[in-house]
Amino acid sequence: MRIEDLKTPCYVVDEGKLEENLRVLKRVKDNTGCTILLAQKAFSCFAEYPLIGKYIDGTTASGLFEARLGKEEMGLENHVFAPAYKEEDVKELVKICDHMVFNSFSQLEKHKDSLEGVSVGMRINPECSTQEDHAIYDPCAPGSRLGVTKENFKEEWLPYLSGLHFHTLCEQNSDDLKKTLDAVEEKFGKYLKGLSWLNLGGGHHITREDYDLELLESCIRHMQDKYGVKVYLEPGEAVALNAGYLVTEVMDVVDNGIKTLILDASASCHMPDVLEMPYRPPLKDSGQPGEKPYTYRLSSCTCLAGDVIGDYSFDQEIKPGDKLYFMDMAIYSMVKNNTFNGMPLPSIAVMDQTGECRVVKEFGYEDFKNRLS
Ligand SMILES: *Cc1c(COP(=O)(O)O)cnc(C)c1O
Repeated sequence: MRIEDLKTPCYVVDEGKLEENLRVLKRVKDNTGCTILLAQKAFSCFAEYPLIGKYIDGTTASGLFEARLGKEEMGLENHVFAPAYKEEDVKELVKICDHMVFNSFSQLEKHKDSLEGVSVGMRINPECSTQEDHAIYDPCAPGSRLGVTKENFKEEWLPYLSGLHFHTLCEQNSDDLKKTLDAVEEKFGKYLKGLSWLNLGGGHHITREDYDLELLESCIRHMQDKYGVKVYLEPGEAVALNAGYLVTEVMDVVDNGIKTLILDASASCHMPDVLEMPYRPPLKDSGQPGEKPYTYRLSSCTCLAGDVIGDYSFDQEIKPGDKLYFMDMAIYSMVKNNTFNGMPLPSIAVMDQTGECRVVKEFGYEDFKNRLS
């Protein structure tokens, strides 16, 4: 099936692009000897885990369910970090994860006797904000709950730890990693020498065109050489950046002073980051409003007045039945969608290197009903 023939709405994962990204990540691994994990919270499309597992080393999870998915579907190295763990979850996690990262010494103390066979880490907070654009994604904002600050670090717990973990970046380049590492070294360097690993988290936009790979590699080598630690990276976005689409059909055109396309895809339900981040997703064959002759506001079938994806312009008039293709829709899309308004969930398809598409999952009424009672 070709992408034009898919029933909409549908997320399409582009395996050619995915593999291009994976080759870049593999090169970083080969050049430095670091270990790279998929952060599943960005992209849990497990149909692609066998492919991803050919290039990188495993998965990381935000809790039990993602950890189970990583274990079941990739079955390689499996890490987990959560701000807090339930006792019953820890019992499961220690069986399926090789690394567990804690967010506080109180959590470590609570679970310390259940961690046999697991490499234990502590998330640190280097208190080094490197971004202003997306405040909700800044774990280094004052008072942030994420990671132990230098002031709260308890040296007496070091014997329980094998590694440190930080995650402070979001869609950033390696210059910001460098700054962050300077802060990490200054505040926590003295603890690193006795430890066996350092996890640099995610948010590294490694597969973006302008990303400075050389600086990333020199950062990794520096930490390895100076402290003798194994370095982990756990990108989410970078794995599937620009490797997916959301295909939608135009259902109606409403003009109450603004020409508005009613789509069968919704920002609120199917691309919530558009409203949460917020951002205007790239759309194939479109321009900024007014740039091309026909400008429309793109909206959806939900009752939320603000369920607006953005304003776009086109070379030709858009009519009901036309298909539109949102770009870069593999990440933070299918993992975050919902059935608000009883909206159907988009199917998931994969497109192979020849452009042939295969639907790997369809959703229906039961998926809406089963999460309610
Ligand atoms: C979100 C997250 C990641 C992945 O971040 P990306 O921005 O998708 O690369 C990695 N590690 C942790 C702890 C995270 O919270």
